[in-house]
Amino acid sequence: LAHPLAKAKVELELAKLMMQKGASLYDAGDDMGAGEAANMAKYAAAEAAVACADQAVQTLGGNGLAHEYGVGNLLLATRVTRIAPVSREMILNFVAQFSLGLPKSY
Ligand SMILES: Cc1cc2nc3c(=O)[nH]c(=O)nc-3n(C[C@H](O)[C@H](O)[C@H](O)COP(=O)(O)OP(=O)(O)OC[C@H]3O[C@@H](n4cnc5c(N)ncnc54)[C@H](O)[C@@H]3O)c2cc1C
Repeated sequence: LAHPLAKAKVELELAKLMMQKGASLYDAGDDMGAGEAANMAKYAAAEAAVACADQAVQTLGGNGLAHEYGVGNLLLATRVTRIAPVSREMILNFVAQFSLGLPKSY
């Protein structure tokens, strides 16, 4: 149990750090930098949430999908964060275009 929990802690802290970077850049008036960091933070937080919920279910085995354990519902709840309000793919489009300078792909 220790390693999955430690991994979740690392991934959530990384997402939080990027969120704080975005807030800091926004406060400093760097809207484009804040947008980049916010996109990255949203991506990282969603991926961390999905991974945490999946790991929780996996750890509990079949019980992880039983209503009584209250974990299975998190699969759907966290999965939404990869789609809304901005999908993972649109974040990658943003990073590809504005962070990496690649041509707009759509
Ligand atoms: C629970 C929930 C609550 C919501 N609440 C709100 C709300 O309050 N207000 C609101 O305005 N909206 C809300 N939405 C809508 C949400 O913002 C959209 O679902 C989200 O932006 C994705 O758009 P879409 O569903 O039209 O998917 P689509 O745009 O049809 O995308 C389908 C798939 O194709 C991918 N895709 C689309 N375009 C590209 C591209 N150019 N390049 C690569 N991949 C691409 C997407 O990433 C996705 O995987 C909500 C959605 C959900 C699920």
